[in-house]
Formats: sequence, structure tokens, C-alpha cells
Amino acid sequence: LPTHAELVEYKHAVAGHNGTLCDVDGTLFIKPCVQAEVDFYQTSVTHHQDFYEFMPTFLGVLSLDSKLANASIEEQTDALLAKHTHGISPVEHAPLPIAKRAVPEPVVPGHGPRKIPTTQAVVLENAASGFVKPNILDVKLGIRLYADYATPEKKARLDKVTEETIHKTLGFRIAGMRVWQGEGANGEDIDEDGYKVYDSKFGRYSVTEDNVHDAFESFIFSKAAGIDKELGMLVCQAFLTDCERIKAVMEAQESRMFSASLLFVFEGDGIALRKAMEEASVSAPKISGNGNGGAISDEDEDEAIDPKVYAVHIIDFAHAFWTPGKGPDENSLHGIRSLEQILRKLSEGQGSTK
Ligand code: ADP
Ligand code: MN
Repeated sequence: LPTHAELVEYKHAVAGHNGTLCDVDGTLFIKPCVQAEVDFYQTSVTHHQDFYEFMPTFLGVLSLDSKLANASIEEQTDALLAKHTHGISPVEHAPLPIAKRAVPEPVVPGHGPRKIPTTQAVVLENAASGFVKPNILDVKLGIRLYADYATPEKKARLDKVTEETIHKTLGFRIAGMRVWQGEGANGEDIDEDGYKVYDSKFGRYSVTEDNVHDAFESFIFSKAAGIDKELGMLVCQAFLTDCERIKAVMEAQESRMFSASLLFVFEGDGIALRKAMEEASVSAPKISGNGNGGAISDEDEDEAIDPKVYAVHIIDFAHAFWTPGKGPDENSLHGIRSLEQILRKLSEGQGSTK
């Protein structure tokens, strides 16, 4: 693993705070974060393996303290975890009640891009690596978007977001997305790599209950990128399958996640996508989009890595907790169920599918 000094700015985030990093070959994603997020990764790895399967692979914790810039991530993870668990191993470290874990909200003037004020970061698998042209969609989950300990100002601000968006009815919104537009595409809203970028304003002000299917179609179907109706329907089917699995896991567990997201990634280059699907169907057991499963792919380590078709991950655990005794997280599940309905329709060829 690289040291802090070897990291570079990550340029493909579709939502969220500034300050995300990656390693030079793009296989790692490094996100500055609060302690609660580190804790949630830790306890998920040790106690919630079936849920962890849908999280990005957690590789460690990195100190952003410049004094430690040249220490390895392994060394820093050990040091930071020892410090925060006060000598108690994470396995025995029961989650504290939410109030005691409250992280003061940073006071940030205005609504511009901002960084999380923290000296640590989680080191994760980059969910977009291994794709030729990764199309990425961040779907923020929940009707209520804040934890109990949020300030009155934050509660009021996020209640307004819920009120004015499809969070209110569908329990999710599109936080951001980027979609490859095909070779040589250019235009005002297309970046230098040929992606159309939908920023936070899109899901906040343009997406309604009536046109939300169109938004998903814009993400998945693109004639110019070589993704026709038939191919796009297969992608929807794959996304739907993972959503159903995530739903089943979450219905059987007791957690609370406020403003977590589902991160959908798929191969945005139609030619590469078709090829990756063909290869996946030849080496059947590896068709699953997620890489945390382990056992099967270990057998053929020496072979070239299969091209990726898609991946679905749950991300963003700044306000996420395991809450034994409280029942499933209906707030987040509401959004997942709405998503399922949309993906089911699209996977059956309903909707306009341009
Ligand atoms: P924030 O708390 O700033 O919202 P998120 O965890 O939601 O942080 O991440 C912000 C953005 O970074 C996401 O919208 C996504 O585009 C990107 N991202 C997050 N996790 C990963 C990952 N493991 N791999 C690739 N990109 C990621
Ligand atoms: Mn986020």
C-alpha cells in the first residue's frame, strides 16, 4: 500500500465532500472521514460479514497528519486503531450509544465544496477501477437524512431537502452521476473525458417522481456509447438483483444509516460492456459484480483479471451505526424498495428507453 505522500487527488467522485484521494494506479479510494465511519467499517468487517460484502473492501485507516506522511498504511492503521479503541480489540468493542459518539458538525460558511475537518481517512477499494469507462451513480438513501445528534440548523436544512425532493415520497435522491457519452462526444455539459456530469443540482431540483425513470435511463441507456435497449436491460437486471440482496440483508439486521448511499457503477463503453458480459457468462461463477466474495476468484490468481460488468456498493457511513434491539433500518429500506421498483420496470423494458 502507498503512503500519504504518494496519493493524488481523486477526480471521479460524483457527490460528497472535497478532499478524496486515490493511489496513482487508481485501485484505492481514500476518503477523509469521521471516527464513526471508521468504527462502522471495523464492526462490519468483524460482525456483519453479509453486509460487508456490499461495502467497498476496507483496507485500513490512513493518518492525514503530515508528520506521518511517509508511514505505511499498515503502520498507521495499527497506530490509529490502538489509539481509538483504547487497547480493546475491535471485536469486543460494543458500539457506544449514538449520543456519546456525536461528532460536532463543522461550521462551514456557504454551500460550496468543502472538506471534512479530520486527520484520518479510510482506505477503500476504488469501486470504479477495472472499468474502461465507468458510469457512476450515487443514490442517497432515506427520508430522514440526519442522525439524532444533528444540530437544529442541520435538521432544518435537511428537512427542507426532503420536503423539496423525491426523498419525501421515494426515500432516495440522485446525489450525482457521470455517464460516458461515446467516442468523440463533446458539448457544454460533457467533460474532457467524454462524460456527462450530473451534479447535485440535478437530483435536487430537476428530478421528480414523474421523471425519475428518465434519469435512470439517462444513466443506463446510451445509443452513442453503444448501450442499446437490450444491453441496458441486462444492466438493470444485474442492479436489481444486487438491490434485492442488499434489501434482504438489511431487513435481517438492525442498523441506522443516515444519508448513506448506494453507489452503482457499470461499464459505460458498450463494446467493452458486451465483451465483459460474454466473458462473465463463460466463467459463470464470477458473474457477480462485487469482489468481496473471495473464495472463487482466489483459485485462479495467476489469470488476468476479468473485465468488470458492474458493481453495487453501499457507501458513506459518517452517520451509520449498528443498533441492536432497534429493528431494521426502514428509513433506508424505503429508498431501496423504491429503487427496486424502478429497476424492475426498466429491466422489463418498460419506460421510454430511448
Ligand atoms: P461524503 O461523506 O463526502 O458524501 P461518500 O462516501 O458519499 O462521502 O463519497 C463521496 C463520493 O465519492 C461518492 O459519491 C462517490 O462518487 C465517491 N466514492 C465513495 N466511495 C467510493 C469508492 N469506494 N470507490 C470509488 N468512489 C467512491
Ligand atoms: Mn455521500
